[in-house]
Amino acid sequence: MKGFFVHTMEKVDIKNFCLEDLEAFLQGLGKEKYRAKQIFKWLYQRGATSFDEMTNLSKDFRQELALQARITSLQPEKVEKSVDGTKKYLFVLEDGSSIESVLIPEEDRATLCVSTQVGCAMGCRFCLTGSFSLKRNLSCSEIINQVCAAQTTDRITNIVLMGMGEPLANLENVISALKIMTCPDGFQISNRRVTVSTSGLVPEIEKLGRAVIVNLAVSLNATTDEQRDLLMPINRKYPLATLIAACRNFPLPNRRMITIEYVMVRGINDTIEDARRLVKLLKGIPVKVNLIPFNEYDGCEFRKPEQESIDRFHRHLLYKNLTVITRASRGADISAACGQLRAKMEKDGAN
Ligand code: SAH
Ligand code: SF4
Repeated sequence: MKGFFVHTMEKVDIKNFCLEDLEAFLQGLGKEKYRAKQIFKWLYQRGATSFDEMTNLSKDFRQELALQARITSLQPEKVEKSVDGTKKYLFVLEDGSSIESVLIPEEDRATLCVSTQVGCAMGCRFCLTGSFSLKRNLSCSEIINQVCAAQTTDRITNIVLMGMGEPLANLENVISALKIMTCPDGFQISNRRVTVSTSGLVPEIEKLGRAVIVNLAVSLNATTDEQRDLLMPINRKYPLATLIAACRNFPLPNRRMITIEYVMVRGINDTIEDARRLVKLLKGIPVKVNLIPFNEYDGCEFRKPEQESIDRFHRHLLYKNLTVITRASRGADISAACGQLRAKMEKDGAN
C-alpha cells in the first residue's frame, strides 16, 4: 500500500499515482472516480504544472487538490546534443542526486532511454553505472518526469528502461511508471513500444509479467555460467538455466519476442563457440538478439571486439535463423551510449 492513506502534513506527489491509485485517492476525498482521467490528461497529455490550469475542474476542487497534492517536474540541468542528433539530459533531483536520460531520434521514431535508480547495486564489470554502488531507487514521479521533460521538445514514441539502474530492483515504482506510460489517459504509448531491460532478476521477471504487458529485454551477455559469473555477479544468485526458464515462461502477447542483449567483449564472449552456445540456449524461445559491441570508457578493464568477430558472430546467428541486429553506438561523442550513464556521481561523493 502506498503512503497516501497515512495522514501526514506533507502533500502527496500526484505523479506517484497510476490511474487506479489516483482514483482511490480522489475517492478518499469524496470525489468522482472519472476525475482521475481528467487529471491524468492534464498532467501527461497537456503537460500541466499546476492544478489551476485544470479548467474542467471546479475552482473549489482545484484549491482542495492544491492543498493535498503537488505537481512535480524536472528541469534539465544540462542537455548535450550529439552530432547524430542523440540528446543527453542531466537532471538534478530534490536531494541533490543526479540522473540522466537519453533521447535517440530516428527516422520514424524517437526513443527515450530513462533511468530507474541512482547508481546500481548489480556491479556488472563491464558497466560504468555498475562501478558506482546504489544510492537509491527513483520514485515513480522521478521516472515519469524524465518523460514529461523530454516531451516538452520532442514527441516521444518509444520508451526503454535502459538508463541508470536495474528496473526490476525497483519493481513497485517501475510498474506504476509503466502503467502511466501506457495508459490511454496518460502518455498513450503503445505497450509494444515500451521495453524493460533487466540484468536477470528471475522472481521479478515473473512478477513483472503478471503485473503489466510490456516488452522484456534480458541482458544475457554470456553463454556459460562461468563467463556470466565473471561479468555479472547476479548470475551467482540466478544462474543461466533459471534465467532462460524465466524467459521461456514470460507471458508474451501474440507474435512478440523477448530481446536478448549481448554485449560483446573482446576475448571474453566473442568467439564462434559462444555464438553456437547462444543459439542452443535460446532454442525454442521467441527472441531477437541485439549484439552490442562493448563501449569502452575511461578506466575500463575490457576492450571492444574486432569488427571481424562481430561479423562472424552476427552471421552465425542469421544462418541459424535468429533475428539479429548489431546495435550501432549512438551518441558516443557525448558519452550517451549504453552503459556510459553515470551523471556526476563520483564528484558528488554519492558512491
Ligand atoms: N540494468 C539493466 C538496464 C540498464 S543497462 C540491464 O542491465 O539490462 C542497459 C544495457 O547496457 C544492458 O544491456 C547492459 O548490458 C548494457 N551495457 C552496460 N555497460 C555497457 C558497455 N560498457 N558497453 C555496452 N553495453 C553496455
Ligand atoms: Fe546495473 Fe545494468 Fe549496469 Fe549491470 S548493466 S551494473 S544491471 S545498469
